Amino acid sequence: MRCVHPQKKVFKNKISSLLFKEAQRYLVGGVNSPVRAFRAVGGSPLFIKSAKGSIIVDEDGNRFIDYVMSWGALMLGHAHPKVVGAIKQAADKGTSFGAPTRAETELAKIISYAIPSIEKIRFVSSGTEATMSAIRLARGFTKRKKIIKFEGCYHGHCDSLLVKAGSGISTFSCPDSLGVTQATIKDTIVVPYNDIKTTKQIVQRNFRDIAAIIVEPVAANMGVVMPQIGFLAELRNICNRYGIILIFDEVITGFRFTFGGAQNLFGIEPDITCLGKIIGGGLPLAAYGGRKQIMEYLCPVGGVYQAGTLSGNPIAVNAGIATLKVLATMDYLWLNRKISDFCQSLKILIRSSKINCTVNHAGSIFTLFFTEKPVTNYAQAKHTDIQKFKKFFWAMLNSGIYCAPSQFEANFFSFAHTDKDREKTFQAIIKALKSL
Ligand SMILES: *Cc1c(COP(=O)(O)O)cnc(C)c1O
Repeated sequence: MRCVHPQKKVFKNKISSLLFKEAQRYLVGGVNSPVRAFRAVGGSPLFIKSAKGSIIVDEDGNRFIDYVMSWGALMLGHAHPKVVGAIKQAADKGTSFGAPTRAETELAKIISYAIPSIEKIRFVSSGTEATMSAIRLARGFTKRKKIIKFEGCYHGHCDSLLVKAGSGISTFSCPDSLGVTQATIKDTIVVPYNDIKTTKQIVQRNFRDIAAIIVEPVAANMGVVMPQIGFLAELRNICNRYGIILIFDEVITGFRFTFGGAQNLFGIEPDITCLGKIIGGGLPLAAYGGRKQIMEYLCPVGGVYQAGTLSGNPIAVNAGIATLKVLATMDYLWLNRKISDFCQSLKILIRSSKINCTVNHAGSIFTLFFTEKPVTNYAQAKHTDIQKFKKFFWAMLNSGIYCAPSQFEANFFSFAHTDKDREKTFQAIIKALKSL
């Protein structure tokens, strides 16, 4: 059997398709997280057997250069020996204690050294928990109830954040998911990303009620979208003026562009930072932290409750320490420059070939949108030609490149990607674009 895709059918995926059939009998949609099911691109997902560095290998033995990188978690690439070593060592000593360990303090030290706005931190097991808890904390601290989030920013699947804006920009939104009640989201206000004017208007009208503004300092869940100049600084000003807690969701951006957060690059400090993905080195680990005065509202010191059986799990924390120790020695500027060059060449090529395509990039992540207009917010991102994206995705897969199976995701370079990978990927993109 061959790849079940409307387009070209080149590589074999017999085993993956059989496994997917069986998985669908037991797992909902055959997966444990929706985007893995390839619904956005059609066809059957690849089942991954193993991975090393920049390469993933599927059950049929196909090898791909990976740009999903566990959705950005693997800044050092797959199965980095130092990280795997730390995991093995930790596992030998016990998998979970439900009691404090030295390693938690060590990881906390490294993180607050790298991100000085984090004076105190709390470890949790997923980015969703981090943002959900940060919002609870902001509400507990300010004694206010409303929050502002931006359209197209993803903060995990916590009910109150599962909201997309309706067409009216300042309207109180509709839930994005069945099971999320109107009551849960009535205190969530959604504003277009990069729209400081609307943000100001809404804050001026509601400032006594707004506990927090939560934002991805570089948006990476509608595809990559950079904050416009002044956007984050203005958010900081607004929050200062009205006593609103500014939450940077750095679950993707933390340790992505520099050994620290996007906040270090932009020189804007939030009150609370959410981290996840990279800090766990591929294990379930996330965190939220910030100003001591706010963090100490958390139980057992303060009255905001939040807990976790596996929070600060010793294996995950040791994987995190190993990851950050290696990352501290890596040349982020070098990597960012490489990817910047990569994207510049791509832009030049696209311009000369008159393909309707926009390259958005930040540091080592990028997205190709199939629209010629600039993409600075979610409405513009949605102008993309999804049919073209689908064709592009499969053309890339057929050239041995595994991109995110959705237009509204970033592609992630890691320190493990080689010049050869970049060259091969560049050629594959040219070929794929020409085939559209
Ligand atoms: C992935 C992500 C989350 C959610 O993290 P999970 O570990 O999947 O719960 C939250 N915020 C951002 C910006 C993310 O990219």
